[in-house]
Amino acid sequence: MARFNVTEMKSGGIIKQKQRDAFTVRLRLPGGRVGAEKLPVIARVADEYGQGYVHLSVRQTVEIPYVLYDRLEDCLAELAKAGLSPSSCGPRVRVPIACSGCELNPNGNIETQRMAQEIDRRWFGTPTPHKFKINISGCPIDCMAARRADLGIIGITEPKLDAGLCTGCELCVAKCGDDALTMTEDLPLRDVFKCIGCGDCIHVCPLDALGAGRTGMEVWAGGKWGKRPRAAQRVARWVAEEQLDGVIERTLAWYREHAQGRERLGAIFDREGIAGYQEQVFGSLSADGVELEMPPAGAPVAWKVPPAAPDGASLDLQGGGTMEGRGA
Ligand code: SF4
Ligand code: SF4
Ligand code: SF4
Repeated sequence: MARFNVTEMKSGGIIKQKQRDAFTVRLRLPGGRVGAEKLPVIARVADEYGQGYVHLSVRQTVEIPYVLYDRLEDCLAELAKAGLSPSSCGPRVRVPIACSGCELNPNGNIETQRMAQEIDRRWFGTPTPHKFKINISGCPIDCMAARRADLGIIGITEPKLDAGLCTGCELCVAKCGDDALTMTEDLPLRDVFKCIGCGDCIHVCPLDALGAGRTGMEVWAGGKWGKRPRAAQRVARWVAEEQLDGVIERTLAWYREHAQGRERLGAIFDREGIAGYQEQVFGSLSADGVELEMPPAGAPVAWKVPPAAPDGASLDLQGGGTMEGRGA
């Protein structure tokens, strides 16, 4: 009879290796952040209980390979003394990954690290029908591949023009890689449907004529990697940080309710579409300025925008790809 329950141990971040009695201990490091004071502890434990090295996983964590079963308890106790604990595997919410976001990166639009710590504190290990991964990127460059996560978060910024400061130099127009800006009467005009909220035009403006009108998040859902990868779908934008906890709570509830056995969120979307999910998770937020991206219906872009945009900008969906007023 086996001395250990491999599945149970794996669910707690202790992963059986192919070598007899050897396990890899995967650490729980939300957002890939670890205090400098913990690093010598990890190094010593890897030396004393493993084979003197660690492996850096693709999801921003540290793994200590070759810990023998009989020494696992002592190894985990040593790590616990430094406030380190194992991660998780299997059908549950995994440790969120995140870049440094606006804390360190000039491109960052949101507090990715704060969100990762909070999501981990609140949702880590919550049972789900299949694995559930949350990736957080500070901007649409999406270094953390939010677009392939079960739930992906991307920080966005809406540029706002102070026409009185603008000299019409066109640097912002040249910088915008999404053709969202054109010059009209010597001022940049923004196509809200083409704009991805990267903020590049703000960074390039030499006169601060462009600033951040509002910041928020795009939410992508249903992505996964693996043997049969699936791209996530963008489901909403302009979600505020304080709305995120409710978004996750309702997403997990919808996921449990609609999963047929052990399947990923994206598989349900493939079967049922995403409209029901969007309505249940984001419908109540539309009055607060959250916009829903609707499934393609032949139009170049289809956003369901709240009746009155929060900053008073004129948003016209008729005809698709229409433009808002100058720099709003
Ligand atoms: S996603 Fe954006 S903010 Fe995050 S590391 Fe990449 S470029 Fe920087
Ligand atoms: S924020 Fe919008 S308008 Fe500005 S550079 Fe990015 S896509 Fe273009
Ligand atoms: S907003 Fe700034 S970068 Fe764009 S045209 Fe005006 S001054 Fe130039």
